Amino acid sequence: MKKVPYDLIVIGSGPGGYSAAIRAGQYGLKTALVEKQPRLGGTCLLVGCIPTKSLLQTADVWQRFVHAADEGIQCENPRLDYPKVKDRKDGIVSKHSKGVEMLLKRAKVDRFSGYATLQGGGKVEVKSDSGVQTVEAKNIIVATGSEARMLPGLEPDAERILNNIEILNLTEVPKSLAIIGAGAVGSEFASIFHRFGAEVTLIEMLPRIVPVEDEDISKELERNFRKQKMRVETGARAENIRKTGHSVQLTLTTKEGKQEELEVEKLLVAVGRKPNTASIGLENTKVELDRGFIKVDGNQQTAEPGVYAIGDVVLGTPQLAHVATREGMIAVAHMAGKPAIPIDKNRIPSATYTEPGIGSVGLTEAQARAQGYQVKVGRFPFAGNSRATILGHHEGFVKVVADERYGEILGVHIIGPEGFELIAEAVAAMEAEATVELMMQTIHAHPTLYEAVGEAFNAVYGLSINA
Ligand SMILES: Cc1cc2nc3c(=O)[nH]c(=O)nc-3n(C[C@H](O)[C@H](O)[C@H](O)COP(=O)(O)OP(=O)(O)OC[C@H]3O[C@@H](n4cnc5c(N)ncnc54)[C@H](O)[C@@H]3O)c2cc1C
Repeated sequence: MKKVPYDLIVIGSGPGGYSAAIRAGQYGLKTALVEKQPRLGGTCLLVGCIPTKSLLQTADVWQRFVHAADEGIQCENPRLDYPKVKDRKDGIVSKHSKGVEMLLKRAKVDRFSGYATLQGGGKVEVKSDSGVQTVEAKNIIVATGSEARMLPGLEPDAERILNNIEILNLTEVPKSLAIIGAGAVGSEFASIFHRFGAEVTLIEMLPRIVPVEDEDISKELERNFRKQKMRVETGARAENIRKTGHSVQLTLTTKEGKQEELEVEKLLVAVGRKPNTASIGLENTKVELDRGFIKVDGNQQTAEPGVYAIGDVVLGTPQLAHVATREGMIAVAHMAGKPAIPIDKNRIPSATYTEPGIGSVGLTEAQARAQGYQVKVGRFPFAGNSRATILGHHEGFVKVVADERYGEILGVHIIGPEGFELIAEAVAAMEAEATVELMMQTIHAHPTLYEAVGEAFNAVYGLSINA
């Protein structure tokens, strides 16, 4: 048999690719990783999850200063130093990018810098400023991720029309900002810049913001955004977008059909992400695509033997960092002959760090009803949770969607303080196939926010105590 230099080549160093490469190293597979960017970490670390959460954290701290008097702390004229806020974010990103580099070295993963293209037959061409080379392996993982979709005819320009990359490079808070798209990304940026003082208009074509969440969660977030005096337009269209010397103008058609000319300093387009599969040589393989996404089986294998795909390029799983990572673990386990459990889409948590925060897992109430379950809902408001009151954040609730027959937990949806952290208990409960009854008997420490989760399980049977 022909000897190939590598057991595995991973293309892309996002949370999917770098984690897969490390795991492969841990399993003793001779592994190479190719990354076209000078820094490692992919969208999530460089221009996604991590920098946005850094800004969101600072927005939380800033709000605490603004409202410090409510807690008996007098802060005369707090001032936001946005360049410093940006520096802090950039520092966090750099630190973790270097961390990824160190982890890959420790796992003895060879790093290739350059643009990778699949050549078929286990070969990958890597093109960089210093030339072109071909690397060969028994297995390849495609983890090339995604990039922001733009609206037809619009290009990001770093000045006025922004995507997730440009907006993270701003050195001052814009006076006004329109955001097209109110999914997790658009809503998080709205929550950042509104709290930093920008006049934000959040525009969503669908009838509700964060549209993949349970309807009650969308309603509660919209209610809170409006209470914070953010302008939210759902069922609305932004058209005729044009740049002037110092602003962006657009025609906004509201759900009532009213047309308005809106002029803002900056426009953020956050209408979803397209998979990076167009020019990576997939035509040299049997890999099958559906609308640009790669089709895989439960082991993340594509139709080309030895080629796996993970993360944002994959058809049918949500574009989330932890999904990319898990899919990487599955692919590597499979090629190393270790046990691996395929992803269960109903057990993928999602976390949105708006104010209030959202954490959810499993079926929404509407999905559970549509699938024919005998749905029972337990709901507990943070208003009844003493820790939430102490934190000064008792907006939101925990909602448990259960099946009446066996007390199966079908989904849990949280909006409120630390909702994105609290969801962990529900994910573990569902993974362990715990019933509602078992979770009712689980002792929750007092006073904690996660008592609200325990109360919501009790509420399924009308047995919550504090509400
Ligand atoms: C603003 C924003 C906030 C987000 N927040 C969250 C969050 O809080 N939680 C969450 O779970 N998800 C979040 N996401 C989504 C998350 O970033 C993605 O799901 C995740 O990064 C996908 O990981 P990946 O490994 O598939 O690809 P990516 O992270 O996109 O990495 C792909 C890598 O491949 C490289 N590459 C591409 N083509 C080639 C090539 N031909 N040759 C060599 N290298 C190549 C790219 O340069 C990149 O480094 C956010 C996304 C955005 C935009």
